[in-house]
Amino acid sequence: RYDILIVGAGHGGAQAAVALRQNKFAGSIAIVGDEPELPYERPPLSKDYFSKEKTFERILIRPAAFWADKQVDMLLGRRVMSVDPEAHSVTTADGGTIGYGTLIWATGGSPRRLTCSGHDLIGVHGVRTRADVDKMMGELDGVSRVCVVGGGYIGLEAAAVLAKFGKHVTVLEALPRVLARVAGEPLSRFYEAEHRAHGVDVRLGVVVECIEERDMRACGVRLAGGEILECEMVIVGIGIIPAVEPLLAAGAKGGNGVDVDEHCRTSLPDIYAIGDCAAHDNDFAEGAHIRLESVQNANDQATLVAKALTGAPARYHAVPWFWSNQYDLRLQTVGLSTGHDEAVVRGDIGSRSFSIVYLKGGRVIALDCVNAVKDYVQGRALVLSGATLPAEKLADASVPLKEMAA
Ligand code: FAD
Repeated sequence: RYDILIVGAGHGGAQAAVALRQNKFAGSIAIVGDEPELPYERPPLSKDYFSKEKTFERILIRPAAFWADKQVDMLLGRRVMSVDPEAHSVTTADGGTIGYGTLIWATGGSPRRLTCSGHDLIGVHGVRTRADVDKMMGELDGVSRVCVVGGGYIGLEAAAVLAKFGKHVTVLEALPRVLARVAGEPLSRFYEAEHRAHGVDVRLGVVVECIEERDMRACGVRLAGGEILECEMVIVGIGIIPAVEPLLAAGAKGGNGVDVDEHCRTSLPDIYAIGDCAAHDNDFAEGAHIRLESVQNANDQATLVAKALTGAPARYHAVPWFWSNQYDLRLQTVGLSTGHDEAVVRGDIGSRSFSIVYLKGGRVIALDCVNAVKDYVQGRALVLSGATLPAEKLADASVPLKEMAA
């Protein structure tokens, strides 16, 4: 039996253990994870790990010696199948049982798959784990054409790397613009133009009907309407399904993720949930009950739970932030733009260094900053305070945002 058992050796799970030891927690801690690797950073999987600019060792969250030194037991390659909240134990796929005093559920999610025929052919890939990306990289040599299904951040980042590798890339997006769920239209149009300038064929408003097969391998994508795009590889980036079945089966409240309160407590005793799988009321989404899929959220919720377990409970109130690297463009976002009623462009989009400030009822709720680190840093205060500023003033890039915060 461990005093604290963490399920999921990803960003949230690793940070929970790190923060517990930082807060001088002296009890026993174990992390049980289904992947074979020590916790590693996931964002590079579609960026500099995929492009081979970083080796796997460089994306480890901590070196192996750290976990031994901090006495965090790593139970890797083991998947938790069920939770018994009364007995305070979990069972793993190998039939083992592990007891806990407190359980921290940090399991992220699995990539949503296509449901059409051909979705499971050789050459069709999701992008969530190191194993996914290694498999993809292993096949790339024989590939000249790739279809990327989904114009979200992961799909676009993968497309940028593949274009750099000289592959012929087509991005297939069902909605009328890329990044539609997370950004305003000016940003979507900017990224569409950037990808097209790098030779990527961006198709909008298209529906994938099936994946075509030749000799058990994917050889193309058929669109509704009949057009077939020939390719040797299909990458699917259409979101995740939170990995919460064992918790829901044990009686935890939830649906799209597991519900947690402002302290990240689930409805089950002594069980917390954090990261991508935790549906919480977010102050920066006007209290809406949402899941956030970001390193920031996983780390901040992990830190919050570690504090609560070492005697310093607090409400979750962290400003969301995120980043995406494509080509030489570094996008940094702060706040959540969902529900904005005005998107103010600050600076000249043509210069490839600009920001978009999102307003709701006149209040600044979020910024997307492209190669504009100053705006990102200074805009944070505007989001935190919910500053009310006229659009004309925000649009004037000659006046630093920090001068407007006053
Ligand atoms: P994860 O890091 O996914 O960790 C969960 C772990 O639990 C996984 O290892 C999983 O296999 C394991 N697990 C699941 N079920 C079980 C079970 N039953 N038993 C045992 N183990 C289990 N975020 C950003 O902020 N910026 C970015 O630029 C960015 N880029 C990304 C690029 C890619 C390709 C991907 C996939 C994600 C990216 N993200 C990015 C999102 C970010 O990686 C996630 O938000 C973050 O990893 C969430 O941490 P987590 O601890 O909730 O889940």
